[in-house]
Amino acid sequence: MRKRLHQTPGAGIFFRKCDQLVKKNVQFYCDFDGTIARNDVGEQLFLRFGSAETCYAAVREWMRGEISSTEMYRRECETARVSRKELAAFASGQELDPHFKGFIDACRNHGYEVMILSDGFKTYIDLILAHAGITGLPVYSNDIEFFATDRIRPVFPYEAGSCGKCANCKGYQIRRHRQEGSTIVYVGDGYSDRCGALEADIIFAKKDLLNYCRQEQIDCFAYTTFADVYKKCQKIGLFD
Ligand SMILES: [Mg+2]
Ligand SMILES: [Zn+2]
Repeated sequence: MRKRLHQTPGAGIFFRKCDQLVKKNVQFYCDFDGTIARNDVGEQLFLRFGSAETCYAAVREWMRGEISSTEMYRRECETARVSRKELAAFASGQELDPHFKGFIDACRNHGYEVMILSDGFKTYIDLILAHAGITGLPVYSNDIEFFATDRIRPVFPYEAGSCGKCANCKGYQIRRHRQEGSTIVYVGDGYSDRCGALEADIIFAKKDLLNYCRQEQIDCFAYTTFADVYKKCQKIGLFD
């Protein structure tokens, strides 16, 4: 059950509730596309190597709740023509939030766990993190496999735990990884972060996730980069 925090730092209620947070055992769950990576890499992948028209139509249907993200990804992968080499070159051109590395160091110094939850694909996430020199972070996501030189299909290792809307439901991932009594912090930016955010004690949100939280009156901190997340974590006492 998530604790509701007041959205305006400085309000008395906010500090009282933050005092109740368990600071010894904090788990950070971070989205990848548009959160750790500057771009929505999955979207870029299909725009670059697939049919923009088919992909946008599939995304619109998914956002309206008409199809699950597994169906969206099957349609998108169908249109893509990309080799392993092209995918690696594409991944090496992707940028991360420049403050993510510092944030990871702070989490490690405090003994906090960080997990990446993505409804994108592990292949490009691993390539991008390795290229940025970031190692040792668990990644729970969908994946792609090559079945010809330049053809890919999606693989959904966590489909059985899906809520029916997500391919890799982040709510399911948090429920299976959360430790008893831990404080769950979620950082995300999109529609696929909704199930994850609902399991969290503290939500950092931007873009579509922020709109969703505001619409549903779910307390969250708005952020732009991991520098904001870091500063806010210091302010509420999670970081020294
Ligand atoms: Mg995202
Ligand atoms: Zn879900």
